[in-house]
Amino acid sequence: MAVRLQASGLVESLMSEAEVVVVNTCSVTAEADREARAYIRRAHRLNPSARIVVTGCYAQRAPEELAVLEGVAAVVGNSHKAFAPEIALSLAANSTSEPSIVPLHSLVNSGTQIWADDSFAHSFLERAQVVPGVDPGSQTRPNLKIQEGCGNRCTFCVIPQTRGHSRSLSEESVLKQVRGFVETGGNELVFSGINLGRWGRDLEAKPTLAALVRAILAETSLPRLRLSSIEPMDWDAELIALFRDFAPTRLARHAHLPLQSGSDAVLRRMHRRYRPWHYVEKVAALVAVCGDELTLGADVMIGFPGETDAEFAETYEMIRALPFGYLHLFPFSPRPGTRAWDMHRQAPVPPKVVDERMKALRELAREKTRAHRRAMLGRTLDAITLHTPTELAARNKTTALTQNFLPVEIEGSIEANRLVCVCAEEFAEDFALRAVVK
Ligand code: SF4
Repeated sequence: MAVRLQASGLVESLMSEAEVVVVNTCSVTAEADREARAYIRRAHRLNPSARIVVTGCYAQRAPEELAVLEGVAAVVGNSHKAFAPEIALSLAANSTSEPSIVPLHSLVNSGTQIWADDSFAHSFLERAQVVPGVDPGSQTRPNLKIQEGCGNRCTFCVIPQTRGHSRSLSEESVLKQVRGFVETGGNELVFSGINLGRWGRDLEAKPTLAALVRAILAETSLPRLRLSSIEPMDWDAELIALFRDFAPTRLARHAHLPLQSGSDAVLRRMHRRYRPWHYVEKVAALVAVCGDELTLGADVMIGFPGETDAEFAETYEMIRALPFGYLHLFPFSPRPGTRAWDMHRQAPVPPKVVDERMKALRELAREKTRAHRRAMLGRTLDAITLHTPTELAARNKTTALTQNFLPVEIEGSIEANRLVCVCAEEFAEDFALRAVVK
């Protein structure tokens, strides 16, 4: 959106001075909704004359809820996100341009215009060329979103409603993006998607993600590719074999498999497509190819409706037994319109119990992270330098990320986006590793 608005002649400015403010929202939890509303209110308070355009998942899920907030001039759901830049442009002061698509409806009192339906005919995947960020704060290792939407129906998840069915960026477009990224000096690219492992299923020839990755690593000179979250059952033998052929230098030894729960009964209630033993098998296959250098990550949901002490204990034990390098822990958040919303009404887990379980897993996650990183001390690992925070740079240090997703602090000052080999020597703060360049 930013690239397209800049190409139309708009310039970025402070929120307090901007004519138009675009707010891209998340709606994955009730907390995300609350933060989005608070942000919009703050934007209006700081700059009452700004015309606010709200887009993203919350705008798709409940457009009227956002349209009534003061200062909001337009609500553009994900279904019409491709039009968000031209809608924003039309709202700039002295603009004579009109969006090429009429709003689906307007609020009677405020005139706020709404574009959102469930066809997703006007949502889009990345069109602007992805480049390595050169400014401090920008992404040295950007994401290239190659897949959007999801056809699964996990009972807790609002994403299929807010992002629609699964769609893939064509192989040709992915290759073009990767070549463009390499030409602009990019060194590490992250493939992302809402359900990345489903990439290609909607395309005519039904190519697989593994075949796409193999083609990219064979046909381009991309120095390093990282795969973001992939559902457990999509880690098939073809995909896992890529680590044997391209890791660690060109394919990062990093696998994120959402777990959510280690209890078979809870996974069934969640409508997840795997059982705990499937998950264990996939991890074993990954470790067999990557060794202990693999950094394994997972999302875990705590307090799903009806989660008993025994079911939580199964999750805890499973996590304890597997070689996780990090965990993303989330308390269950009931989302309107999902099946788990009703389950939560019938069998909520008390907040105090959720807090206790979160605390126990947080401690376990810290132990796992520390143990995994301790095992890396003394090893030489490929890494990429990042934009170093000012305070650390003042101490003559550089931040970097190893191919296997470990944050490191390097002695000395090195500019961002350099590929280096580091040897981790000791722990710094927050379990980051102190390393020297080899
Ligand atoms: S696979 Fe992921 S995005 Fe799809 S419904 Fe389940 S949790 Fe949501």
